[in-house]
This record gives sequence, structure tokens and C-alpha cells, in this order.
Amino acid sequence: MSEARTAQGWKALAGAVDWPGRLVLDGRQVPPRDGATFTLVSPRDGAVLVEAPMAGTADLDAAVAAARRAFDDGPWPRLAPRERKRVLLRWADLIEDHRDELAVMISAEMGKPVSEAWGIELRAVLATYRWYAELADKEAGEVPVTGEDDLAIVTREPVGVVGVVTPWNFPLTLAAWKIAPALAVGCSVVHKPSELTPASALRIAELALAAGVPEGVLNVVPGTGVELGRALGEHPGVDTLAFTGSTAVGRAYLEYAARSNLKRTWLELGGKSPNIVLPDAPDLAAAAATAAWGIFFNAGQMCTAPSRLIVHRDIAEEVVDGVVRAARGYAPGDPFDPATTMGPLASARRREEVATHVTRALDEGATLAAGGHAGDLDGELAGGHYFAPTVMTDVAPGSALAREEVFGPVLAVVPVADEGEAVAVANDSDYGLAAGLWTSDLSRAHRLSRQLRAGTVWVNCYEEGDLTVPFGGYKQSGNGRDKSRHALEKYTELKTTYVRL
Ligand code: NAD
Repeated sequence: MSEARTAQGWKALAGAVDWPGRLVLDGRQVPPRDGATFTLVSPRDGAVLVEAPMAGTADLDAAVAAARRAFDDGPWPRLAPRERKRVLLRWADLIEDHRDELAVMISAEMGKPVSEAWGIELRAVLATYRWYAELADKEAGEVPVTGEDDLAIVTREPVGVVGVVTPWNFPLTLAAWKIAPALAVGCSVVHKPSELTPASALRIAELALAAGVPEGVLNVVPGTGVELGRALGEHPGVDTLAFTGSTAVGRAYLEYAARSNLKRTWLELGGKSPNIVLPDAPDLAAAAATAAWGIFFNAGQMCTAPSRLIVHRDIAEEVVDGVVRAARGYAPGDPFDPATTMGPLASARRREEVATHVTRALDEGATLAAGGHAGDLDGELAGGHYFAPTVMTDVAPGSALAREEVFGPVLAVVPVADEGEAVAVANDSDYGLAAGLWTSDLSRAHRLSRQLRAGTVWVNCYEEGDLTVPFGGYKQSGNGRDKSRHALEKYTELKTTYVRL
């Protein structure tokens, strides 16, 4: 398995991958009706990977119609839940059999180190499909109390056709967080992956067909956001839209729903997450190392990235020194090298945007403590989109770097005088996805956690958790929750049947 592969081994595997050339639509692999393709460029070296199939609106209409037939007349929503479980578990087994191939595809498509694609992303994907498969036959309805002449039964029914739109940063995990619970309850799905990562999405759907997911239940139609994403958002045949991506595009999906059929629209959006380090943190070195890992993991392309380090003035120097030292361990490198801790950014445009954020922060008075420049590599990687791990200090709370999502390896350090100011600065944000808090005082941890307006508060850790806990944002970081039992709420309608006895 993967641990045995060298950089050369992964590169050879990437070269041997049979990149998907067709859409997955109504249980079959079909070419786009108009034969359109898009050119996939690898951020690793700027080289063309493959011409990927691009769906048009006629393909989308066919996919929605297939999903509708599968839901209205097909076997999937009518199967005993334990049978859906069996199919989903079989799919997960096939994903595991193809783990190396899927990992190298993701790494080539969007540049994440292949060791993390294999060890972190695919582990999460497998866990997600298996967890929701197991949950499929364990849910129950309610019988609320009524007068003795009545009987009320509350059941959850699958909502119908679900449109899923996902970004590229955790392309298979974020899709799994939506597709797995939707399929487990009996919905059918039309998935539009990011234009940067269509191939891994198509391959995993091909495996679903091989596992016995019936025709029309899972359709994958890669295409651009402005054309295909919008058409899916406005489609009258879609009952629910589950989106992960930027806040600006999330806003557009609410508009699409408003001017079409008011489809339920669930949004997992951006963040500018605060990470508060107080002088009584149990281990300042661990807090600094975790702050660095949090912002440089996946090259900072994390919705939950702890991009604002809000640190008490008394310990700011010690913590920032620790972060800057740790940053040296994230020098950008070849994503196919198992030793690489940070790969390139996902596209040339991403790298330009990150560089612009840094320049503007310098103009606004911030100081560069590390990085701040392109992480240029030589040889065959010279055309890749690398950026050095960057730490900026003296960041004013009202400045753009403290307020806007960079989605890159750039940490903004904001010093504060006390815990009250720390919470005020942390909450002074349009976003509310996650927060970190470092203190050894249990009462303070709970008190401050209650005050932080964020969907997740990590205390003395960051990015921890498993499928049992809900994930999602307050404020403009979105609505609804992925993961856990709560995700089922997105893909079901509550029905009351009230009987006069
Ligand atoms: P994006 O919003 O640009 O794109 C996301 C998806 O929307 C893609 O499939 C894209 O094709 C589509 N899209 C783009 N423009 C569209 C339009 N006008 N109409 C319809 N669809 C459109 O985001 P991205 O660059 O792919 O991903 C980065 C963003 O995703 C960041 O803001 C990040 O915080 C967010 N994100 C959030 C979470 C979360 O769970 N909260 C997780 C990961 C990423």
C-alpha cells in the first residue's frame, strides 16, 4: 500500500492513471452531449493532466430527470434501510481498494501532499461512507404524547433529489459529508464537483455503480460554477441543494433558490477562525506548533484554518517565535514526495490572490515575520503554484488581513491585552465557523467557549473530532450541519401523521 511508495512510485502511478473521460449519468458512463471538455492543469508543475469531460445544461437536465425517476419510481428509496447499508458498505470497500489511485488523483488535481490525500482525506472519506451506511438502519420515528383518542406518528422521509455542489480543497471528503447521508436516507443525488477536481469525483462515482448503487441514484456532472452550478441551483427538479464553498457563491445559491422553487439550501461557507492563546495555556510550545500546523496544513486552504492567532501580549513573542520556527517545517515541496508537508496552492489564480493579500497587509502596517513570497521550486516543479508559509504580526483587528478569508498559508497575529479583548476581537467577524482556545483553567475554557460565536470551539487542540460531532458555521459561515446524525436533517422532511382513533 501507499506507505511503501516513493515520490517516483507515486509519480509513476499518476502517469498510469486512467483518467475518467465520461460523465456518470443514469447508471452509465456517457460522454457529454456536446463533447465539451476542460483542460485540467496540475498545480504541482503547471502541466496539463488531462482533458476532463464537461457537462452542459442538457446533460444536467438529463441527470436531474434520472435522479427524479430513481426517486419517484426506482428501488433505492423503497429498499429496506439495511439493504441500502449493504450497498454503501460495498462501495466503501471498493473505495478502499482504489485508495492509492484516488489519493494520487486528488494530489495531482489540486496539489495536496499525496501522503495527506491517502492518510487524511481518504481515511475521512471511508469513515464517512461507512458511518452513514451503518446509521441507515438505526434511525427511528417518534410517537409524541396526545390525548387518548388520538395517535400521532412523526417520521422522517427522504427529501427527494439533492443537488450537491462542492469545492476542491477536500474534494472527496466534503462530497462524502453530503452524498453519504443523502443516499443513506434514500435520496438521489446530482453532484457538481469543482472544476479543479472533476476526475476524482467521477472515479468515485464509477465505483458506486460497480458497488450496485442503482441507476439514477448518483449522477456526477462536472462543469463550471457560473453555468452548471447556477443551472443546478435554479433547477425546478431539485428539492434540496447542499453547497460547500465561498460565502459569495453561497449567497448566490440562496438567490437561485429564491427565484426558482425555494429548494432547501444548505450552506457550508468560509471562515476567518480565531485561535486564542492565553498565558495559562497548558503548553505554549504545543499551542505554537498547532497554530502553525493549522494554518499551513493543506497550504492553508481550509475553511476552518485558524488564520487569526489572537495571543495575549505577555506571551506573544514566545508564541510567535514558536510559530515561525515551526513554519520552517512546511517549506513547500513536491506533493508526490511522501516527506512533503505542504504542497502548492490549487491554481495560479489562488497564488496571485494570496500574494495580493500579503501585499495589502504590508500596506496596512503589518510586519512580515516569515515567508510572504512565492515558494519557487526548481526543475520540473518550476511551473507549480507554490507559496512560502507566511506569518504576519502587528495585524490590526480592523484590517483586511484580520477580516477577509485568504484561503492560503498566511497567519495574521493579533496581540490582545486580556481575555475580554480576545473574545471581542474573535467575535468581531462576519464569519463564525470555528475557534481555538488555549487555557488550563477549566472554568475559563467553558466560560469563553460559551461566548465565542462559532460552530466548533476546540480547547487545547485544533481540527480534532470525528463523525459523531456536527460541523458547520454561525453567521456568514453558513447554516445547517454536516457530519453526525444532525446531517440527516438536511436530507429528510419531517412528516406528522395524526390519527383520530
Ligand atoms: P467557490 O465558492 O468558488 O466554489 C465552490 C463551488 O461552487 C464549485 O463547485 C464552483 O464551481 C461553484 N461555483 C462557483 N461560482 C459559482 C456561481 N456563480 N454559481 C454557482 N456555482 C458556482 O469556492 P472554492 O474556491 O471552490 O472553495 C473555497 C471556499 O470554500 C472557501 O471560501 C472555503 O472557506 C470554502 N469551504 C468551506 C467549507 C465548510 O465546510 N464550511 C469547507 C471547505 C471549503
